[in-house]
Amino acid sequence: MNKGFLIDLDGVAYLGENVIPSCRDFIKKCNEKGIKFCFVTNNSSRTTDTIYEHLVSLGYELTKDNIITSSEVTANYIVKEKPNARVYLIGMRGIREELEKHHIQIVEKDADYVVIGIDFDINYDKYTKALREILNGAKFISTNSDHRLSRSDGVAPGNGALTKVLEFSSGIEALYMGKPQQEMFVYGLQKLNLPKEQVMMIGDNYYTDILGAHNFGMESIFVETGVMTIKEIKHFPVKPTIIVKNLLELDI
Ligand SMILES: [Mg+2]
Repeated sequence: MNKGFLIDLDGVAYLGENVIPSCRDFIKKCNEKGIKFCFVTNNSSRTTDTIYEHLVSLGYELTKDNIITSSEVTANYIVKEKPNARVYLIGMRGIREELEKHHIQIVEKDADYVVIGIDFDINYDKYTKALREILNGAKFISTNSDHRLSRSDGVAPGNGALTKVLEFSSGIEALYMGKPQQEMFVYGLQKLNLPKEQVMMIGDNYYTDILGAHNFGMESIFVETGVMTIKEIKHFPVKPTIIVKNLLELDI
C-alpha cells in the first residue's frame, strides 16, 4: 500500500460544520500505522490556524504541518522565485497572513506579482488596480480555478470566476496554484517528502481531485462523502484508481 496521502478537506474531512466520522477514524489509523498525510485545500480565505482549530474541534488528531492551503502554495512559489517580492493582493485574511508570514510586501502600486484569491469584498476599484499592475508587467497568479463555492446558504461564484474578469480584461492567463493544477501536488509531495509513486490523492470532486491527480501522474481515490456520487464518477473519462463509499473501506 502507499506510504502517503494527499487528502481534500471539504466533502472528505467535513461537510460544512459537520465532521465525516469515517475520515476521522481513517486519520487515526494513518497515525497508528505511521502513514503520512496532508490535507490540501483550494480555499484561501481561512488561515492554516483556523482550519487546524476547526479540525481539532471535530476530533481530528493532527498538527498544522498536516494542512496545506492554496495560500501556502502561493506564498512558497513567490518566495522561491523572488524573495521580498512586492504583491498587489485581492484576497481575504488567509492569503494575506500567509504572504506576510513569508515576508512578502503587500503593496498598492509597482507590484512584482498580482495575486487573486477568493474575496467576498471584491469590487471594481480592486479589479482596476490589479488590471493596471498586470498590464504594467506584474506576474499574474491565482490561488485556484474553482468555478463555484458551496456555502451554507447555497452556491456562490468561486475564485476561478473572479479571476476570469482579470484574464479577460488583460488578455493574460493567470498561473493557478491550487488543484487541479500541478503546483499544489508538487508542494504536497515536498511536504510529505515522498515520491509521487508512493502517494495517492483522496477527494470527492472529479475536476479538482481526480483529474488533477491524473494529470500530475498520481493515483487517486474517489470517496462518496461529498459533492459527487459513485454513479456520476463512473461516467467521466478518467477513472480514479480506487472508488469507495467512505475511507474506512480502504485497507491500509
Ligand atoms: Mg472537496
